[in-house]
Amino acid sequence: MAEVSDPQSPRADRDVPAWHSQNADAAFEHWGTSREGLTAEQAEERLAHYGPNQLRPPERAGVLRRFLRHFHNVLIYILLVAALGTALLGHWVDTGVILAVVLINTLIGFVQEGKAEKALDAIRRMLSPRALVARGGERREIPAEQLVPGDIVYLQAGDRVPADLRLFETKNLRLEEAALTGESVAVEKDTAAVEPEAGLGDRRGMAFSGTLVAFGRGMGVVVASGEHTEIGRISTMLGEVEGLETPLVRQMEQFGHWLAAVIVVLALATFAFGYWVRSYPLDEMFLAAASLAVSTIPEGLPAIMTIALAIGVQKMARCNAIIRRLPAVETLGSVSTICSDKTGTLTRNEMTAQTLRTATREILVSGVGYAPQGQFSEDERDIDPDDDPLLNQVLRAGLLCNDARLYEKDGDWVMEGDPTEGALITLARKAGLDLHLEGERLPRTDVIPFESDHRYMATLHHDHEGHAWIFLKGAPERVLELCSEQQVDGETREALDPDHWHAAMEAVAARGQRLLAVAVREAEADGGELRFDDVEAGGFTLLALVGIIDPPREEAIRAVADCRAAGIDVKMITGDHLATARAIGEQLGLGRDAEARAGHELDALDDAALAEIAERTDVFARTSPEHKLRLVKALQTGGRIVAMTGDGVNDAPALKRADVGVAMGGKGTEAAKEASEMVLADDNFASIAHAVEEGRTVYDNIRKAILHMLPTNAGQSLTIMMAILMGLALPLTPVQVLWVNMVTSVTLAMALAFERAEPGVMQRPPRAPNAPLLSGFLLWRIPFVALLLWAGTFGHFVYMESLAGVADEVARTVAINTLVAGQAFYLLNLRLIHQPVLPGGELFRSRAMWLAIGVLVVLQLAFTYVPLMHTLFGTTAIGADDWARILAFGLAVFVIVELEKLVVRQVIARRRGVAPQAV
Ligand code: ATP
Repeated sequence: MAEVSDPQSPRADRDVPAWHSQNADAAFEHWGTSREGLTAEQAEERLAHYGPNQLRPPERAGVLRRFLRHFHNVLIYILLVAALGTALLGHWVDTGVILAVVLINTLIGFVQEGKAEKALDAIRRMLSPRALVARGGERREIPAEQLVPGDIVYLQAGDRVPADLRLFETKNLRLEEAALTGESVAVEKDTAAVEPEAGLGDRRGMAFSGTLVAFGRGMGVVVASGEHTEIGRISTMLGEVEGLETPLVRQMEQFGHWLAAVIVVLALATFAFGYWVRSYPLDEMFLAAASLAVSTIPEGLPAIMTIALAIGVQKMARCNAIIRRLPAVETLGSVSTICSDKTGTLTRNEMTAQTLRTATREILVSGVGYAPQGQFSEDERDIDPDDDPLLNQVLRAGLLCNDARLYEKDGDWVMEGDPTEGALITLARKAGLDLHLEGERLPRTDVIPFESDHRYMATLHHDHEGHAWIFLKGAPERVLELCSEQQVDGETREALDPDHWHAAMEAVAARGQRLLAVAVREAEADGGELRFDDVEAGGFTLLALVGIIDPPREEAIRAVADCRAAGIDVKMITGDHLATARAIGEQLGLGRDAEARAGHELDALDDAALAEIAERTDVFARTSPEHKLRLVKALQTGGRIVAMTGDGVNDAPALKRADVGVAMGGKGTEAAKEASEMVLADDNFASIAHAVEEGRTVYDNIRKAILHMLPTNAGQSLTIMMAILMGLALPLTPVQVLWVNMVTSVTLAMALAFERAEPGVMQRPPRAPNAPLLSGFLLWRIPFVALLLWAGTFGHFVYMESLAGVADEVARTVAINTLVAGQAFYLLNLRLIHQPVLPGGELFRSRAMWLAIGVLVVLQLAFTYVPLMHTLFGTTAIGADDWARILAFGLAVFVIVELEKLVVRQVIARRRGVAPQAV
């Protein structure tokens, strides 16, 4: 290519040819390309020259800004005031410790947030789009970022346009250009040149990067990539960058602010009371009030919640469920209905044609998978396809009306394209037909590709003697409508006998086979284009029905059972035939209770009747994307939280409407992915079930973090407040409070974010979507444990002070270790929220917990025995008998909470009317 002027270079901006005002040939010529596309070498050279087809990622706040942001927090403000206060009072050690704590806290927050962000970045990268191009004369799918000027790009409904294209072929192409022009109505495109002055919205011959193909298809040559595209000039990467905030985290943050305000008031009141009523010295009271505030505010909670969410997202990604919107993690935990496609999601999508039904015969085909090895038989006798003209006609039609590819690679047969079509290629090759040969004899001039809306595919072919044919294949009901005759043998046709075909369809579908009908019609020899009207005019001759098996995935059968155990209804919504859907549904363990329904039955129902049917029915067949949307709405009116799968551009409204839209990563369009909360990398139903389990676990872990932090904080503040009310020496000095807060939140509470799923997580019903986070149970458990911790800490302190008569340092060191031991043992209780942790050794299944406790023990020993700590925190060494009492208290907390679970479980079970094991 002559790189005379470089129109991609910003410097040459003024010389950029106005591609929209020239015809497509100008673009071909300028970029030295053809319909065959660039060669691999050209593409490589240009990639090196022009760089990847990517937009600048949006600017991130700098490291320093992000770090400083962590100081913007009520707790930090209180601590800074306390540091200032201690400095003014001349307590330099305290000032130093407080400032160190501030720094360590912010550092930990900063590092953890960075990790969570990284995890999400990695996940975003998994979603990078792909583009279908012609390279070296072959159609290939490549990552969109490898596109270069001169590449030939194919567009089809649902694609996001990957670069700026000069269109040179269009078929009913309509683009939704809202990303660029703000206009949400899709614009009709063609290949004509327009005035150079035309605005972006009027440049009909162009497809701009970032816009969406709403309908039809087209081909274009890349004229600008990356930042040189129109969208690249006006913005950085589109939308996408999701924050780490979710409704739950926000709710908790708000709760935190509210709590902080109450605590500050409480601290001021305590200060006033202590100073004026109890006559504590001013500096001591100031520090006491500050430590009270610091000990009560659950400052680490939002951070821990975010980390729990990020870990959940990472684990889901490992199970092939990629979260696009973080709040979906929470919603997943309360999903009560999953509506799933059948083909490829519940089934394997490895299709093999097994049955052929013609007007008079049934032919069976052996063999599995895509390997073209198998026999044709009729009435249990092998037949030779070469001697069978009708069979040949059927197979040829299936082979030509086809866009899939089948080839052998390293001894394996690889299929690319639509598996339904792949099965037809294998079938034809079993009879020795060759696509190249057939294609040369009857070259294709045009095509109407398959879409779920019209449910057929048609191709127009011309031979070299001036004849033309339209081959049609599709859902049998649709094809039947368009046929008037049926082929009886190689020569003879007769009038169509619909009853015969309907009976044949029922019989084949009842075996769980997917159905396809194949038909043919002679066409006008001079027409080069195939329009919908040509096909809809009918008059086809029906050749045969093809029955294709697509067995259910083993893991999907298990996942359906898991979902049912978890109180989640699974509904299969498929475009397939009713009888096929029913048979597959049965194999999957669905639809035992109610009738399967077909899409057209739903059309007659009003919304109320539909809601009732939707609730009872598990299998919906012959549905269109509109039915999906109606079904989601109907299920939602019944109070259900719905996850819905989809892949096509027309599924987008249903995916958006669903509480959790789930797009297929493999066969899904960009439009479907962008409308969804979650993308399945492996298109597998089982991954949705895993994601639900993970969602429930994340929610459990967040509850556990709350169940741990709030009572331990409340226990600490009660200890301080009671001492002041009773006029005693403070059981914990402010810096000691800071220490306890810091070490327990980085060890114990953090461990909860990493907790594995509870064993019964998929045996309980979904969480009610409107259930408050602070449920009745939490409102009981939090004060209960708070009082328990307070009683132990305060009691032990008073005992040491008054009965044992030791120095304040000793009593304090003992009190602090008592508090920490209580918190550590209580952490063990939290391995399971409601169930006992000892049976089955569940207690020992959590590595994170034991690791956290191990670290905590080391830190507490240092706190108690290292001389530097004595200076900084005013602690001192304590004796073995003290430790014995401390551990006895910890153990008591553990036992008491286990006993409390026993009682609470009974209460909850009685209220819900279930067995205590099911709580
Ligand atoms: P699901 O909705 O569960 O993914 P599906 O793949 O069966 O199921 P559609 O893709 O809408 O749903 O297909 C509906 C019907 O259209 C199929 O049962 C089949 O008869 C027909 N069909 C499917 N793929 C093609 C194709 N490539 N060409 C022609 N007809 C097809």
